[in-house]
Amino acid sequence: MNNSQGYPARFYQVEEGKEVRCLLCPHNCQLTPGALGRCRTRKNIAGKLNSLNYGEVSSISLDPIEKKPLYHFHPEARTLSVGTWGCNLSCGFCQNWRISQDSPQVRELSPQEVVELCQNRGVEILAFTYSEPLIWYEFVSETAELAQAEKIATVLVSNGFVNPEPLAELIPKISACNIDLKSFRDEFYRKFCQGELAPVKKNLEYIAASSTHLEVTNLLISGKNTSQSEIEELVKFLADLEPEIPLHISRYHPAYKFREPATDIEDLLRAYALAKEHLSYVYLGNVPGNDKSNTSCPNCGSQVIIREGFSAHNYLQKNRCPECRHVIAGIFN
Ligand code: SF4
Repeated sequence: MNNSQGYPARFYQVEEGKEVRCLLCPHNCQLTPGALGRCRTRKNIAGKLNSLNYGEVSSISLDPIEKKPLYHFHPEARTLSVGTWGCNLSCGFCQNWRISQDSPQVRELSPQEVVELCQNRGVEILAFTYSEPLIWYEFVSETAELAQAEKIATVLVSNGFVNPEPLAELIPKISACNIDLKSFRDEFYRKFCQGELAPVKKNLEYIAASSTHLEVTNLLISGKNTSQSEIEELVKFLADLEPEIPLHISRYHPAYKFREPATDIEDLLRAYALAKEHLSYVYLGNVPGNDKSNTSCPNCGSQVIIREGFSAHNYLQKNRCPECRHVIAGIFN
């Protein structure tokens, strides 16, 4: 549902003959007048780059923070979650393809209206999620700034595929991120997502070094990104950044162009065990009834947050284990 006029986009340069080069994400699309970028959300209109999805909300909901997923950031809090349409990747297994790859119905909201919705509903966290928020950049940036001014925390659930300059400008406006690291193989990114691994790794390094809280999701698909060597490299990379980064190992279910069966539980358990050798906090997601979504104290092993579905029972005392007083990484109050 494109807004044909658009909104002035940022991060581009004008080239010869009214062509423009978008510099928002590593695709760096070169656009002749009238052309759309690969994300479908940015268009060259008479030599100027415009955002077509500014203020266009395809999905809006009150969600528990656990659903993002964020497990070490204000457990049990409700978020107002908003998303637009379009994506700069095109993963064949996308679980949200109806909004990322199609043209859903939208409603128009201004940044002020989104912040007022949070206030009217007594919600203290605003999440940009569902589709890819980085290609909604201008709207996300303006809304996050307003939200922060009103003491509302901001969450970004993203593929992390963005250029360094826009990321550096946005991150101070974001309280917490969950970055979807789809694989630790560049071939996987190129073949199944039409993206690249290197920019995502670089951006994870940047966010891990910032003061924004970071968690990572890795959706596993049996036979595609489940080899022992790949998982070992992925978790060692995260551990080198910070061994207390929470990792969500998530189960794939058939969606969009992928018909492969849901991820083998044995593959998930093997990845979980491997990740636990290097990282303090590892979780299994999309596997109902498993006990690997609870948080255990890495020092004494006590269960300090117990989760059932998307609800959580937080036994921490501030951010400390009630048994041994060990500090649990994250933001809990
Ligand atoms: S944000 Fe969209 S238009 Fe810009 S470079 Fe990326 S895919 Fe291309």
